[in-house]
Amino acid sequence: MMNSIQMVRREICEVGRRIYKRGYVAANDGNISVRVAADRILCTPTGVSKGYILEDMLCICDLEGRQVAGHLKISSEIRMHLEIYKLRADIHAVVHAHPPTATGFAVAGIELTQCILPEVIVSLGGIPLAAYGTPGGPEIFEPMRPLLREYDAVLMANHGVVTLGRDAMDAHFKMETVEHFARIALVAHQLGSVKTLDLKQVGELIDLRERFGIVDRPSCQIGEEEAQASRKESPDDLVERITQQVLAKLERSS
Ligand SMILES: [Zn+2]
Repeated sequence: MMNSIQMVRREICEVGRRIYKRGYVAANDGNISVRVAADRILCTPTGVSKGYILEDMLCICDLEGRQVAGHLKISSEIRMHLEIYKLRADIHAVVHAHPPTATGFAVAGIELTQCILPEVIVSLGGIPLAAYGTPGGPEIFEPMRPLLREYDAVLMANHGVVTLGRDAMDAHFKMETVEHFARIALVAHQLGSVKTLDLKQVGELIDLRERFGIVDRPSCQIGEEEAQASRKESPDDLVERITQQVLAKLERSS
């Protein structure tokens, strides 16, 4: 029988093949890690394509990034993963990739936080955009920190996407959701009409989370127009509001 660490190794390799096959990474891009013990992180090495990674190529490091096992070198991008594990006790896996459509949004400086698709609103809330930091450098994580406290998926400006999960497959599925959402948002934009859900519709979706056991997730961002549409005034309310505004103006000018 396979022990649990072997199963985690197998799952990391499977996620690697999937992100490579789906074109979420090119060449040796991207990295995957799993917290296998309080101070032990199993992760993909540097310089190997995620599509061809084998179980015995994986490395183990501690939370300070000191390598404790594996014959290949750990990736410099692992620093970002370690910061995430220190920030979020509930997270046990991190996937980082460069899926082209979502990364396109990150390059264009457009976050994916509009209330468009029910499954994204329920599962992720939205995907905010973190300001750019040099890959592998210590400054990369600072703009991401406040966002990752709340969100499980973040766009990294001019770079890619990072997703967080309870295990490698969970983090991978979130990466799929982000890229799928980005493609749909792009097509809707190209068709010239992005219709967002209103406050009431979003509220009903947020209520659904309880049924799926989803807690402590942010909501998508309701635009001012949708919020106003949701407040839908009756003609009487409208007359009353305008009357009050006119009176207030008259009072000020007198
Ligand atoms: Zn990267």
